[in-house]
Amino acid sequence: MDNKLQRTKIINIIHNDNTRSKETSEILENKLREYGYAISYEFDHNAELSICIGGDGAFLRAVHKHDFPYIPFVGVNTGHLGFFHEVNPDNINKFVENYSKGNYNIEDIYLVETIVCTRASCIELIGVNEIVIKGIESKVIHLNVSIDDNHLECFSGDGLIISTPSGSTAYNLSAGGSIVYPTLKTLQLTPLCPINSKAYRSLQNSAIIPDGMSIKINPEYRDENSILIIIDGKQFKYDNVVEITFKLSDMTLRKLTFHSQNFWSKVRDKFI
Ligand code: NAD
Repeated sequence: MDNKLQRTKIINIIHNDNTRSKETSEILENKLREYGYAISYEFDHNAELSICIGGDGAFLRAVHKHDFPYIPFVGVNTGHLGFFHEVNPDNINKFVENYSKGNYNIEDIYLVETIVCTRASCIELIGVNEIVIKGIESKVIHLNVSIDDNHLECFSGDGLIISTPSGSTAYNLSAGGSIVYPTLKTLQLTPLCPINSKAYRSLQNSAIIPDGMSIKINPEYRDENSILIIIDGKQFKYDNVVEITFKLSDMTLRKLTFHSQNFWSKVRDKFI
C-alpha cells in the first residue's frame, strides 16, 4: 500500500448526468474550494485526486476513459450498490475534512490484462472487474483452456468469466464464483452455464489462479468465426480470434479508503 499522494491542491471531479450527481458535485466543489483546492472537470493529469460521482458503472467508465491513471480515485455513491464507493453524498463535509488531514489509506485494486490475437493482429486490453468471453447470438461457445500451457479442459457453454479480486463480487458472484479478499493477488476463472453431457464435459466450478500464472484460451469454431469479449460490461466483437491470454496486470488502480478492514462488513451490507 503506497500512501503517498503528490499534493498539488488540484482535484478532478467526474460525474454522470443524473440530477443527484450534479447537485453533489456542486456541494463538493464548494467544500473543496473552502479548503483551498482547485477543481478541474477536464481531468487534469497534475491533479492529486480524482473524485468520481455516480454508481459503479460511472466509476468503471471513468477509469477506462482516463486510461487507468496513477492518480488515485475515490467514489461518491449516487447510484444503487456503490461497491467501489467510499463516500456517501450526506457525508461530504466529513470526507473533505478527513481527506485534507490525510486521514485515509490508498488501496491497490488489481487489474486483469488480456492479449487478444486474431489472425491479423494482437490487441491488449485491461479490466477492473472482469473480462468475459461469450459466443455470438447466444450460441454455445467451445474454448480450449490452458493454465501456464497445461491443457485443462475444452469448455462448452455460454462462456467464461475471468475476474479480478475486486470484480469477484460482481458478475462472478452471480455466476456462482467465490468472493475473493481484495488483497489476494489472484484471478478467478468462472464458467457460465457449463455443459455436461455425453457430448461435452466442462468444469462446473470456478478455479482460482495465482499471480504469475497465465490463462490461455483457444476458441474452437463450429459455426461463425466470431466471439464476444466483454470488459467491465462493455462488449466488443472479434473475428477469427486464435488465442486469448490473461494474467494479473503489473499495473494497479489506486483507490482511497477511509476505514481499514471494512471489506467483510461491506460484503454483509451490500449482499446479505
Ligand atoms: P449494470 O448497470 O448492468 O449493473 C451491474 C450491477 O453490478 C450494478 O448493480 C453494479 O453496482 C454492480 N457491480 C459493478 N461492479 C461491482 C463489483 N465490483 N462488486 C459488486 N457489484 C458490482 O452495469 P454497470 O453498473 O456498468 O457495471 C458493469 C458490471 O456489471 C460488469 O463489470 C459486471 O461485473 C456486472 N454484470 C453483472 C451481471 C450479473 O450479475 N448477472 C451481468 C452483467 C454484468
